[in-house]
Amino acid sequence: MGAYFSDIFKGLWSLLVGMGITFREFWKPVVTVPYPYKTFTMPDRYRGHVELIENEEGKPNCIVCMACQRACPSDCIAIKGEKPEGSKKKVLTSYMLDFTKCSLCGSCVESCKFNALEFSKEYNLASTRKEDFYFDLLKRLEDRNS
Ligand code: SF4
Ligand code: SF4
Repeated sequence: MGAYFSDIFKGLWSLLVGMGITFREFWKPVVTVPYPYKTFTMPDRYRGHVELIENEEGKPNCIVCMACQRACPSDCIAIKGEKPEGSKKKVLTSYMLDFTKCSLCGSCVESCKFNALEFSKEYNLASTRKEDFYFDLLKRLEDRNS
């Protein structure tokens, strides 16, 4: 009989403790959002896949030095460029990123001395197709400006 009342008391006590925690937490500021209807702005230090940085004319800052491609330990980056007739400088014609292999190590961004590469704020990429994670960064930059 004693054990019976003891169990009831423990159950009630546990309920009261739980409700006390709920009551205390109820008044604290909300730290979550009802995703996907609302989303957070990613902090500056957040690393999404890399993205090209453009100049004032909307063209990539990239000078096709290939340093980022060489620095990538996972062989994610494939760059192409060409020298237009009469020009001494190369122009970027293709910048492909295979994000399926990227570890977001940052070596490519660190190796770029021309402020041409940064981490994006993309965080909710999802797909069942591997091909959806092969990014044409030059096209993405053009799409941003169109
Ligand atoms: S290191 Fe910078 S400038 Fe050189 S190819 Fe990569 S993005 Fe372009
Ligand atoms: S973050 Fe690292 S793994 Fe990803 S593309 Fe850059 S160098 Fe390669």
